[in-house]
Amino acid sequence: MTDTFRALRIDKTDACQTVAIVDLTEDDLMEGDVTVAVANSTVNYKDGLAITGKAPVVRKFPLIPGIDFAGTVTASTHAGIKPGDKVVLNGWGVGESHNGGLAGRARVKGDWLVPLPEGIDLAHAMAIGTAGYTAMLCVMALEEQGVEPGSGEVLVTGAAGGVGSVAVALLAKLGFTVVASTGRTSEEAYLKGLGASTVIDRAEFATPVKPLARSRWAGAVDVAGSTTLANVLSQMNYGGTVAACGLAQGMDLPTSVAPFILRGAKLIGIDSVMCPKPRRITAWQRLARDLDMAKLDAMTTHIGLDDVQKAAADILAGKIRGRLVVDL
Ligand code: NDP
Repeated sequence: MTDTFRALRIDKTDACQTVAIVDLTEDDLMEGDVTVAVANSTVNYKDGLAITGKAPVVRKFPLIPGIDFAGTVTASTHAGIKPGDKVVLNGWGVGESHNGGLAGRARVKGDWLVPLPEGIDLAHAMAIGTAGYTAMLCVMALEEQGVEPGSGEVLVTGAAGGVGSVAVALLAKLGFTVVASTGRTSEEAYLKGLGASTVIDRAEFATPVKPLARSRWAGAVDVAGSTTLANVLSQMNYGGTVAACGLAQGMDLPTSVAPFILRGAKLIGIDSVMCPKPRRITAWQRLARDLDMAKLDAMTTHIGLDDVQKAAADILAGKIRGRLVVDL
């Protein structure tokens, strides 16, 4: 008898998208040279968009969603990857055009896999997930632009969300003075526990955008885009850097050239999906070194596959604090 495993699967009939938990076999998976027994996956903002159908993230039907997973290799014809290896996957179109991580098994290209770094187990890898790995890419971008702990305050927007929570914890551990912006000011104790020195209301960044405002930030990690990012840009110190990775508020950017040509502000775009493999490996090694696992535990909630559909709606509604791990 062929082994079956449970999977979340999105299908589309005419204009209507359906989501269900189904039993599949490995024959139902797509092509790839490595098969993985998935231990954990997660629900990122993009997974929320895919599962609810609020944005056209899924480009092939039927499809298993889940843009990331961590697990143990069960079969491999890829040079350098063997059964028993523990691996992590983020992005590369998985959960968009290739079957994703919200299933007991995954089959993918070995080139997409990153070896699980020493010091991080499979569940912690998904507590970090694409959100946390993206937060690390943002921190690396700030460092590469010369933002240092002594440069001044660093702002993190959407701080109570997944990218934001990991960014706060990472920056604090690296010695930065972190200001956390959130719509959930009731989470002040949580954010200070992660290392924020000050918590401010995100309403401060919802006001009409001036070309330039009072300089406040040496660096910023922005997950919101739109008016928030435009206001952050107008408040950058001379030569300051914003690492922009998200669109939680919107895809627009109602800014002007003033912050760039009058203050030398730098806007660095962060993409996790097609990020080259050597940089991913560096980011994961940095996470093993620079992320406090006790703080990671404090921001993580574990759920089962049956809870994922509700979690997908909740993450889009901004109701999820920190990170979700799906135990498979
Ligand atoms: P979460 O939902 O966990 O966090 C997003 C946070 O943004 C919310 O918790 C909320 O934080 C804040 N927020 C929500 N709505 C608004 C709004 N209207 N205005 C201002 N802030 C708002 O998502 P993730 O952390 O997983 O992802 C954050 C963003 O980053 C998403 O847009 C996602 O698509 C993007 N992303 C991009 C990646 C890339 O490769 N570029 C990779 C990973 C994520 P609070 O309650 O604290 O205000």
